[in-house]
Amino acid sequence: MATGALLKYSKLSVYSLQTLKALSSQCRTFTSQLTEQQAAVQELTRNFANEHLKPNAAKLDSEALFPFKYIKKLTDLGLMGACVSEKNGGLGLDYLSLAIAVEEISRGCASTGMILSIHNFLYVNLVNERGTPEQKKLFLNDFIRGSIGCFALSEPGAGTDVASIRTRAILDGDHWVLNGKKSWVTSAVEGSAIAVFATIDPDLKHKGIACFLVPIETDGLFKGNKERIMSVRAVTSCPVTLEDVRIPKSYMVGEEGTGFKIAMEQLDQGRIGIAAHAVGIAQSALDTAINYAKERVAFGKSLTRLPSVKDRLTDMCILVETARLATYRAATDVSTKNSAMAKYIAGRNAAAVADHCVQILGGRGLSTNYDAERHYRDARGTQIYGGVTDIQKRLVGHYMLREHDAL
Ligand SMILES: Cc1cc2nc3c(=O)[nH]c(=O)nc-3n(C[C@H](O)[C@H](O)[C@H](O)COP(=O)(O)OP(=O)(O)OC[C@H]3O[C@@H](n4cnc5c(N)ncnc54)[C@H](O)[C@@H]3O)c2cc1C
Repeated sequence: MATGALLKYSKLSVYSLQTLKALSSQCRTFTSQLTEQQAAVQELTRNFANEHLKPNAAKLDSEALFPFKYIKKLTDLGLMGACVSEKNGGLGLDYLSLAIAVEEISRGCASTGMILSIHNFLYVNLVNERGTPEQKKLFLNDFIRGSIGCFALSEPGAGTDVASIRTRAILDGDHWVLNGKKSWVTSAVEGSAIAVFATIDPDLKHKGIACFLVPIETDGLFKGNKERIMSVRAVTSCPVTLEDVRIPKSYMVGEEGTGFKIAMEQLDQGRIGIAAHAVGIAQSALDTAINYAKERVAFGKSLTRLPSVKDRLTDMCILVETARLATYRAATDVSTKNSAMAKYIAGRNAAAVADHCVQILGGRGLSTNYDAERHYRDARGTQIYGGVTDIQKRLVGHYMLREHDAL
């Protein structure tokens, strides 16, 4: 049913369910060609973004409104369970198809794209790929159909330095008891469950961490005020405090001590999502700049005919295309090095492209009546959430030297 809903938006609606199923098995390694299924997802989400998101993104941003209506539409299309198999109610898409969806949705509205990305890559895929049958029943089925999932790793005293998290989990009979503070939990205000990372033994550092699925409506779980941020302003991220939160023993994902590995592997996926989100923002900034430059006349001709503007637009095009290639490669060949490289390139390139966009619009580039300043603010965030650019570079260096036996 979800696939049918997805196809409603696509001109390629000649596909039958059987055809899509067959296409989903054709997952090729990325060359320069998308499979027919990936191209169908691209067309669907591009049309959706143009019709629903682009006209409303500025209002969602300026009023910091969570995009309920559009998340509901994405749910109806099946995209909130993009990589879950059709048998289990999802669309059964590959990671590249999901990355393309995040890119196109972010091109229309960066905030909506980020919510889609975190829900799928960091929550749904975690439960889908690692959850027990009981966990999937409680923490997956509803999350394909409208409930929103969150991922809580960061703490006030531990961001990049994940091994230093202090949220504590203690076993008490058949229950885990969680205490601690999480920060920046995206969608926690609207969400229904959180994948929480906590330490069972702080002395063991990263080897003491475990992952737990926690319903948000649990006694002792308190949400703080929504953060007021300069980027992705329609996203709601907030602190979450856990005070003697009791959850059944069976809500732990994986084994004791495997939480750090789970978090890192999930972040390898999450970074593909944020890289795709950055590509979408950058593409939107390039679209904005070209549209403006075509219309604006200076020295008797349109801006596109001034060599320096042409150079800027060309630089922007190269930056967008490079970031897209790195992101699609990472989505088809998932590794820490590829994901970190994609996020590094896409975040930096998006910031540079958005900067050019502001410049091309001149004074209007600074005006809130135009999209350029929003793209500039949104692009900046992609170098921070999902892991700062600085650590992505260190990760690439580490794995590159390891490949050469040179550590
Ligand atoms: C809008 C938004 C949404 C978010 N959503 C979530 C979420 O849903 N779940 C979640 O768990 N977290 C979330 N985060 C948190 C985000 O992932 C962290 O902010 C990020 O990982 C950086 O951590 P930090 O802010 O503690 O910065 P720090 O770790 O304190 O780093 C600050 C700076 O120090 C430098 N630095 C630190 N360590 C290193 C290093 N090893 N190598 C090189 N330089 C270094 C870098 O310049 C870095 O920018 C979100 C953040 C934002 C802004």
